[in-house]
Amino acid sequence: MMTFKPDFKPPTNQPQRDLWFVYQDQKLIVKVSGDTFSIPRSPDLRQVNLSPIREQYLGALDDRHCYAAELPPDVPIPNEWSASGLRELFGLLEDEFIWVAGRANQLVDWNQSHQFCGRCANPTEDKIDERAKICHQCGLINYPRLSPAIIVAVRKGNQILLAHNKRFRAGYYSVLAGFVEPGETLEGCVKREVFEEVNIKVKDIRYFGSQPWPFPNSLMVAFTAEYADGEIKVNKNEIVDAGWFSADNLPRIPPKITIARWLIDWFKTNHQTG
Ligand SMILES: [Zn+2]
Repeated sequence: MMTFKPDFKPPTNQPQRDLWFVYQDQKLIVKVSGDTFSIPRSPDLRQVNLSPIREQYLGALDDRHCYAAELPPDVPIPNEWSASGLRELFGLLEDEFIWVAGRANQLVDWNQSHQFCGRCANPTEDKIDERAKICHQCGLINYPRLSPAIIVAVRKGNQILLAHNKRFRAGYYSVLAGFVEPGETLEGCVKREVFEEVNIKVKDIRYFGSQPWPFPNSLMVAFTAEYADGEIKVNKNEIVDAGWFSADNLPRIPPKITIARWLIDWFKTNHQTG
């Protein structure tokens, strides 16, 4: 198990054992050799003449220093390299690399969208004493943005509520999720989202865990809840189908790396029949 230690100040000497999480149009640039995908190091980038821009230090993964950077959109990807959406790399890169790559994705996205001050439109600069951007004209400071979202496993007896969102691949079902609104508690958001999406009232809301979801900047806060009242009526703006499923009769569900899956696995573990 690798350990990641975040930091914003890069080491003073340029290390050899480094890793570059380089994005081009929200796709991660990785080296491909046969079936093996790997995160490039400085010599790998030099070898194919790739010069990423706007680098940001991320921290160290064990003894390897990690950097996030961008590749301008017109730079061609070398042979035997690939540009892939992070979700396509689930299972192809080790989980620790996926999470550092997610951190990189969030910071690259934030860096791109905060080059200018949102209040007075002057260029911003990196703050020297913390991860933030400052406008020296008006003093506005922008920190990397996080968008909290709830995700919830609703139980009714020995069944779980799963829905097929219209953004999902065909046949896949998952637990419900949604963004927290300004002024809302997490518990209030759980109640509102479940009611808005499927017309069900819930109670006994309990914290389950959390997971950064860097697409581009969510933090998923997971809960379990119990059915309280109502009949399923789906909100067609978001949900195609929803239903109650028992542990031995589940549809296709999200991959093991997602907290949605951890919620469903928790339900399965607690409701195995026979
Ligand atoms: Zn400003």
